Amino acid sequence: MMASKKQGKRFYKHEALIRYARMLGFGELHEKIDRETGLHAIIAIHSTKLGPAIGGSRFFHYYAAGPALKDALRLSYMMTLKAAVSNLPHGGAKAVIIKPDEIKDRKALFEAYGDFVHEMNGRYITAIDVGTSTEDMDIIADRTPYVIGTTKLGTAHSDPSSHTALGVLHSIEAAVKFQMDKDNIEGIRIAIQGAGSVGYHLSGLLSQRGAQITISDPKPEAIQRCIDEFGATGVDINEIYDVPCDIFAPCAMGGTINADTIKRLQCTMIVGSANNQLAHHRVSELLDEKGILYAPDFVVNSGGLINAAMVYDYQDPSIADAQIAKLYDTMLALFERSKRERKSTTLVAEQVAREKLGWVRHKEKIIVE
Ligand code: NAD
Repeated sequence: MMASKKQGKRFYKHEALIRYARMLGFGELHEKIDRETGLHAIIAIHSTKLGPAIGGSRFFHYYAAGPALKDALRLSYMMTLKAAVSNLPHGGAKAVIIKPDEIKDRKALFEAYGDFVHEMNGRYITAIDVGTSTEDMDIIADRTPYVIGTTKLGTAHSDPSSHTALGVLHSIEAAVKFQMDKDNIEGIRIAIQGAGSVGYHLSGLLSQRGAQITISDPKPEAIQRCIDEFGATGVDINEIYDVPCDIFAPCAMGGTINADTIKRLQCTMIVGSANNQLAHHRVSELLDEKGILYAPDFVVNSGGLINAAMVYDYQDPSIADAQIAKLYDTMLALFERSKRERKSTTLVAEQVAREKLGWVRHKEKIIVE
């Protein structure tokens, strides 16, 4: 029987997504629909080549399963790169749970999800992501041991942002060493976009080391906290790009580095935690032309993942900080190779990850958009 036009379109979309998965080098895709609890989840395990795959569980109101699957594919691929470049014995994965219009019983939904995670037999380890919390991880932990971010080791270890901020700090120190040949960041001027969880912790770490902080956030109370506690200077969100500084640190949302903002930037380095900071992959050429060193975001913001992996692997949070400190050497090596090979830092970071994964026959650059 011939497919109707509507069915054909759906079929094409499904085919397109599977082609995308193939291009990214997948991997496993699992989907679970549980009518009783309203659970509809997709677990995308991109790679287990270096070890069990880690990745958060995103709980989000997707309008259809297609965009949810695309998100899972894209994000799990990035998790594989992030884990590999950070020398972790783990692969990358991501799960998306399609948020129902009405949640009848959140506990029952996350219990069913915990059972689904358990069905992966340890090839997938889940964690907090957009829309999920420590409480959700605790519910999942009642059904499976393959979960990170629970309150088992105390609440301090369930929030990744302070560890992410520590990774940003070491990346900043490496950038300052490479660009200015300086062994400390005393007196370095840093403009931070976003005074949320990471921006706040980062401000604290920077102020302890004598850096000068300018910060912006639409929430006045978030800025005030950094002014009161760390002596930061607050500016309007529209002015942060024009602040004369050494480092611009995007710690809010993605896509803020584009042709227009690059013209305004007064810095010589960009090092921040936000995901997907470059609005387009060609933006890195514009940064090169302006002599701005760009620290690849997926390496800069890997501190949270490193902490989670260390806590999971060794049940000992004290090992994590030493592992995060290694980001200094990782970042410095990326900068040096990028200069030597005359390639963008992002391209070099992706290449390093691919080499660790043994993807020698892979295309040089996969554009994930
Ligand atoms: P958050 O939600 O706690 O903080 C983000 C802050 O940005 C908020 O205070 C918000 O008001 C502010 N903001 C929004 N629009 C802004 C604008 N136009 N200008 C300035 N500030 C603006 O998020 P977070 O956990 O601090 O994460 C920050 C970024 O780092 C996000 O992009 C996140 O995806 C990424 N990241 C975070 C972690 C982590 O461990 N939290 C790990 C990896 C990546």
